[in-house]
Amino acid sequence: MIVVMKAGAAKKERDAVTKRIKELGYTPHIIHGTTRDVIGAVGDERGKSVLQTLESMQGVESVVPILQPYKLASKEVKKEASIVRISDTLAIGGKELVVMAGPCSVENEEQIIESAIAVKAAGAQMLRGGAFKPRTSPYSFQGLEEEGLKLLAKARETTGLPFVTEVIDPDSVDLVASYSDMLQIGARNSQNFALLKKVGQIDKPILLKRGMSITIQEFLMSAEYIMSEGNQSVILCERGIRTFETATRNTLDLSAIPVLKSKTHLPIVIDPSHGTGNYHYIAPMSFAAVAAGADGLIIEVHPDPEKASSDGPQSLKPKKFQALMDKLRLFAEAADKTLGA
Ligand code: PEP
Ligand code: MN
Repeated sequence: MIVVMKAGAAKKERDAVTKRIKELGYTPHIIHGTTRDVIGAVGDERGKSVLQTLESMQGVESVVPILQPYKLASKEVKKEASIVRISDTLAIGGKELVVMAGPCSVENEEQIIESAIAVKAAGAQMLRGGAFKPRTSPYSFQGLEEEGLKLLAKARETTGLPFVTEVIDPDSVDLVASYSDMLQIGARNSQNFALLKKVGQIDKPILLKRGMSITIQEFLMSAEYIMSEGNQSVILCERGIRTFETATRNTLDLSAIPVLKSKTHLPIVIDPSHGTGNYHYIAPMSFAAVAAGADGLIIEVHPDPEKASSDGPQSLKPKKFQALMDKLRLFAEAADKTLGA
């Protein structure tokens, strides 16, 4: 249920409503709107009719059911687009198109520093790099783990770029959060509910990737797992789904952008690298994503893709990434976004 407060309702009235919601066994989530606040009362779907009684409380305008199974992620609860803050100077979901770029895996100091300098020079605002890698084969490179996080922190120190890196299990969430600016939940873990709950309890933005075989509704339910634990800073990432097509590694579902925009207030980022698996296709899919309304892109860039420990075939060389960024500005402008100064 959503409790819509009257415009100008007093804090005392809002506090009384949240107290009553708790007494009824539900969790209140206050969402501050531009003209009025709404309070989401989230919990067991059974017996929700008791919440209707809140309508008689002071300062309450109406109590309305949330029709979608996802609540806090839905546009019913919050109509305005959410802007997720990464640092004092960077946010995702606003006017600025945010590009995160870097190698699939952190391999060594030279590689990650060189990548960071190159992507920054091309105009990326964030660095990406995996330290804990969820590989399909147990015999593939699994990542440098904490050493990789240290190297990412060093790259941030050198370039000033905040970074996003993946966390693959609940036990290492605190460790990854202590180094990184944003935590990534990978496609393979998009329905790892224990992990989603754990990242819901920290105070860091989460880049949630869509699983290769999950529907948009299931994707939003995964976001709901994070948000229902208290962390509202969720960014959705479409990275390709599995279809019958084998010409590309996955089928990048760009229709997810307008569909998600119609259902959720959360920002949407596109990953054309995993979405296609082939560096030739990164630029056109990046342009298309921005044209369709994406809030950001996450792109794999490696100084020497032939020697990459993972995902070399889909990694751009810095020069090609620079060319992509130069052209991307025009698409950003056409989509009413800005990219760089
Ligand atoms: C990655 O970002 O390197 C990655 C493993 O992505 P995904 O979870 O989308 O496969
Ligand atoms: Mn990768």
